[in-house]
Amino acid sequence: MPTTGVAEADGATPPPALRAAAVRARIHELHRRHAAEPVDVVSYYPPEAEARRDVFGLSGVHVSGVSVSVGQSTERFPLQSISKVFTYALALEDNGRDATLARVGVEPSGDPYNSITFDEAHRRPHNPMINSGALVAAALVHGRTRAERIERLVARLRSFAGNPTIDVDPAILDQQLRATDRNLGLAYIMRSLRMLDGDVDDTLAVYLSACSVTVTTDELAVMGATLANGGLNPLTGDRAMPVAHVRDVLSVMLTCGMYDAAGQWFHDVGIPAKSGVSGGIVAALPGRLGIAVYSPGLDAHGNSVRGVNICRDLSDHFGLHVFAAERPDTAFA
Ligand code: GLN
Repeated sequence: MPTTGVAEADGATPPPALRAAAVRARIHELHRRHAAEPVDVVSYYPPEAEARRDVFGLSGVHVSGVSVSVGQSTERFPLQSISKVFTYALALEDNGRDATLARVGVEPSGDPYNSITFDEAHRRPHNPMINSGALVAAALVHGRTRAERIERLVARLRSFAGNPTIDVDPAILDQQLRATDRNLGLAYIMRSLRMLDGDVDDTLAVYLSACSVTVTTDELAVMGATLANGGLNPLTGDRAMPVAHVRDVLSVMLTCGMYDAAGQWFHDVGIPAKSGVSGGIVAALPGRLGIAVYSPGLDAHGNSVRGVNICRDLSDHFGLHVFAAERPDTAFA
């Protein structure tokens, strides 16, 4: 991943300030500060991840293609729940907005990601960013066979990342499949309530395969920038998803993407985002940039502690909140 511009900004528009040395220095300084600060970690997932407690990668990619990478930005980690964003995007593409909405809602649940609660009135999971809704979204991904559905989803992830080699890590998938009783329970309950159709094992395999795809923050920031850029990968020019559904995906990220801390995140950071229990966060600021952080120490909600903290500071410092009324001097385009 280059750290200077790949696609040059249009000559008529000023180059993004992400290119400016002062902005880059500030980002490095924030990273250094957060790396040094003791954090209140509640857990690691899986517990072995504690061995990677000091890993802290941060990447940003502007829609013009200019990028910045700090710390361990080439360290691989599984997408876990971050994959829910892209599974939902493909469900929308395959089924259209109305048919998808009929099966999975867009309301924050206020419950933990693996909670066994549903939108009883509409007989559907609350939203696609929690496990119940993500399982329904996985079931909506088209394909004649389980393998074809997984292949289509992985192909989309590659297109978002602009890297044709990203893939499911078989050891992580195996571990996920062996510890998925709660997801199986959720799926069977939903099928008994007719919220979910088809083979439960196939659905689990599609969902958990996407969770087990590994990325670096450099790649994940490109995925975020692709969402920020209307579904068009700013580095490769590849269309990763139809522009018509980008708004829907960003909306559920903004309202439901950070588990039951989504409200606090919106208040403090104000950028559509999604986290995963591996300690990754992707954020996509429409029309501007994608940000990715990886630091495995988790808070009580399952969000990366350093990830949340540095995003809060980046948002404050550079005026990134979608409702920021004023842009500080340091704001970048
Ligand atoms: N593999 C995890 C699960 O479904 C993903 C969870 C997450 O990142 N919240 O249980």
